[in-house]
Amino acid sequence: MKVLVINAGSSSIKYQLFEMPQGTILARGMVERIGEARANLVHKYNGDVYAVEIDAPDHDTGMQVILKTLADNKVGVVKQISEIQAVGHRVVHGGEEFTGSVVIDDAVLKSIEHYADLAPLHNPPNLTGIRAAIHVLPDAVQAACFDTAFHTSIPQTAYIYGLPYEIYEKYRVRRYGFHGTSHRYVARRCAKLLGADKTQANIITCHLGNGCSITAVKAGKSVDTSMGLTPLEGLVMGTRCGDIDPAILFYLGEKGYTVQQLNTMCNKQSGLLGISGASNDMRNLLTLVEQGHDRAKLAVDIFCYRITKYIGAYTAVLGRLDAVVFTGGIGENNSFLRARICADQPQIGMVIDPARNTAKASNERLISSDDSRVKVFVIPTDEEAAIAADTCELAK
Ligand code: ADP
Repeated sequence: MKVLVINAGSSSIKYQLFEMPQGTILARGMVERIGEARANLVHKYNGDVYAVEIDAPDHDTGMQVILKTLADNKVGVVKQISEIQAVGHRVVHGGEEFTGSVVIDDAVLKSIEHYADLAPLHNPPNLTGIRAAIHVLPDAVQAACFDTAFHTSIPQTAYIYGLPYEIYEKYRVRRYGFHGTSHRYVARRCAKLLGADKTQANIITCHLGNGCSITAVKAGKSVDTSMGLTPLEGLVMGTRCGDIDPAILFYLGEKGYTVQQLNTMCNKQSGLLGISGASNDMRNLLTLVEQGHDRAKLAVDIFCYRITKYIGAYTAVLGRLDAVVFTGGIGENNSFLRARICADQPQIGMVIDPARNTAKASNERLISSDDSRVKVFVIPTDEEAAIAADTCELAK
C-alpha cells in the first residue's frame, strides 16, 4: 500500500511517500513559499533531486503539484495518483479527545478546527492541508496523527496546573505536551533495543531539535512531559524560553509590554537566541563557544543545565530508570553535549562509552558503556514513518 504522509505548515507542505508495510520511502519533498509570488518544489526520488519554481497561490495548488510530480513520467514514482490509497496528516493539537491516530471524517475535522484555539499557529494550516488532500485524493483514506495523542496517558497530578480548577474546567487549560509522535517512536524503538522482556521499561526520551522536549515513559506510556498547554514550557529551546516564573510576564506587562510583544519575546526571541544574542542554532553556538564567546557559552550551559534538571526530576517520577534516549537534530548529532549532560549527573548512572558516543554513525545505537547502570541510546526520530505506520493500520 502506498501511503502519503503530509506535514502542512502555514506556507509549506512537506511530504513523504511510503511503500507500506515495508516502510520504504519512494519519494520525499516539500513545497515552500505557498501564497508568495513564486513558490518552489524540491522533490527527492530514487537518489535524485528535482527542484523547480512553481505557482502555488494556496495549499490546494501546492497539493496538486505534489501529486502531479509523484505521478510524473520522468521524476514520478507511481504510475497513477490513484495508487496512493491513504494519506496520513501530522496534526499538532488533538486536545483531550484524541488518544491515538484516527480516520478523518467531518466530526474529526470539526474537532481539529475547535482545537485551533489552543494551537492557532499550527492547527489551521494542518487543516488546510487535510482539506487540500481530500480535494485532490477524494478516494484515499485520510488519517490524522496528533502530536498530543501520546501524552493523553499523563495522569492528572502531572497535567493539572496549580491554578483554580475552574480554569481547567472552563478553558481546558492543562498540560498537553507535544512532539508525541517522536517520543512514542523513539520510546518503542528503545524498548525493542532493550529486548522483548523490557517492554515494561522506564525510559526518558529527550527530543532536542529547534523545539526541545523531554518525556518520562513508563511501560510504553507517557507519564509526564516538559511541554505544557503550548510548546513554550519546559526546556530552553532555539528561540523559546521554556520554564519561567509567570510573574515575570505581569512585571513586564506593568512596564508597558503588550501581550503580543511578550508572546513574541517568549516564543521567538528567547532561548538560545535570546541568551546568547547571537544564534538559535546549536552548531553556530558551539563554534562561538570555541572562539571564546561568553554569552554563547552561557546559553549552552543553561541549555544543558535545564535538561539535567528534567532528567533528575523524571528519574524521581519513574522511580527506576532503565534507559535515556537522545533524538532530534541536537540529540542525534552532538556527542559533546550528550556526554556532558550524562556526566553532569553521575548519581543517575549514565556512563557514556566515548568511542560509541563519537562513532560516525546515523543509525540507532547504544552509546553507554557495558557497565552503565542506565543504558543511553541515540535513536534518530522518524515521525513520518510512525505516521505512515498508523495510517496503514487505519487504512487496513
Ligand atoms: P526541528 O526541531 O526544526 O525539526 P532539528 O531536529 O533538525 O529541528 O534540530 C535543529 C537543531 O539541531 C539546530 O539547533 C541545529 O544546530 C542542531 N544540530 C544539527 N546538527 C548538529 C550538530 N552536529 N551539532 C550540534 N547541533 C546540531
